[in-house]
Amino acid sequence: MSSLLITNGHLVTLDEDDRFIEGGSIYVEGNKIVEVGEIAPGTYTPDRTIDARGSLVMPGLINTHHHLYSTFARGFTPPGPPAQSFEDNLKNLWWKLDSALDSEDVYYSALLAIMHAARAGCTTIIDHHASPSCWDGSLDQVERAFRDVGLSGCLSYEVSDRNHDGEGIEENERYIRKCRDADDGQMAAMFGLHALMTLGTKTLDRCADIGNSLESGFHVHAAEDEIDVKLTMDRYGRRIMDRFLDFAIPGPKTIFVHGIHFASRELDLLRSTDSMLVNAPESNMNNGLSVAPILDMLKHGVTVGVGTDGMSSHLISQARAMYLHQRTYHRDPTVAFVEACEILLKNNRSICNRLFREPRGVLAAGQLADIIIPEYVPFTPLNAASFYGHLLFGLSFSRVRTTIARGQVIVEDGHLPHLDEDAIRTHCAERAPAIWARIT
Ligand SMILES: [Zn+2]
Repeated sequence: MSSLLITNGHLVTLDEDDRFIEGGSIYVEGNKIVEVGEIAPGTYTPDRTIDARGSLVMPGLINTHHHLYSTFARGFTPPGPPAQSFEDNLKNLWWKLDSALDSEDVYYSALLAIMHAARAGCTTIIDHHASPSCWDGSLDQVERAFRDVGLSGCLSYEVSDRNHDGEGIEENERYIRKCRDADDGQMAAMFGLHALMTLGTKTLDRCADIGNSLESGFHVHAAEDEIDVKLTMDRYGRRIMDRFLDFAIPGPKTIFVHGIHFASRELDLLRSTDSMLVNAPESNMNNGLSVAPILDMLKHGVTVGVGTDGMSSHLISQARAMYLHQRTYHRDPTVAFVEACEILLKNNRSICNRLFREPRGVLAAGQLADIIIPEYVPFTPLNAASFYGHLLFGLSFSRVRTTIARGQVIVEDGHLPHLDEDAIRTHCAERAPAIWARIT
């Protein structure tokens, strides 16, 4: 079993007491943390020692909603007139891009984004995948990318009726069973659904039957734009949460994404069913959508997380965007600072820990050894009282020097030494024109 000792770090443990340990050490064996604190020299004989050189050391970050398939959209302009609405944007860009991907594109799209995530200090990603031209086995391609980089992933295929009825149902079922039977805990699975606006009754019924019998939880966009609310009301005479409740979709392992247009009563339903809500402020801004009532959601007792929704793989910038977005929306300079940081560091952790076997997100004995060392030596006092200020105003602009995922060093001096990054980027640059050419 490999072992690793990190010494001389400002440890941000994020444990129950929010302990900060100056000049602290962490000892890791296999993929687990064994000891955290002041470890006397010679206590262990590790395979490797990393001197953190007075840098901050903290748990790896967790992304609770991503679309790794979106990578090849970088720099692409959809053909035809500019999108005039949220629906246009889905139809003109995202539903054409995902259809243009073949099986190898799915792998490389995920690989590039996961590499970027690792370099930005993220060690676990909850992904929502779609590739209608090659859905069968597509989650295995995404998993292959996770295993090549070394991060943990929770995967789902977003079922919809947009190309043909129930597309992706079998892929979710197959992959959920595969993860349940796997020996290791690196990968997890949920039952993915696109959104009520693209799911008919027959499909939703089948998904609910399978997902509930497998107890996987569901991962679904909800109330992202008014069109989702309107179509659900026009077709079924139901508010979104009522419609989901009709199919027993809510529950402690289910993630609803965005939730911008949930009514107060629907937030109560989220709370009473112990469901999770993940928002992605940069994505909402990019789509010209309304601002999610994050503070109201928290007041209702909802577990709120933050994800990147395919915009990037950089999480601290998302928390910063959430903080700035809420302050602008409320025209109030006193709100959302603590909330945005806790959503990123604490709520994302509790969301993730409902879905994976191995606990993570704390520097403590017994936790998964997901640890990052940002290239950030503080020049003002760093302690429990000042840490969130360092997070949003300093760490958001800092490179990550070292990322340790599942006990393995996968980023060193900002690079991934076990992968040929230049060759991967060159190969992707060669694939991209063919993908773009298939989007018409
Ligand atoms: Zn999304």
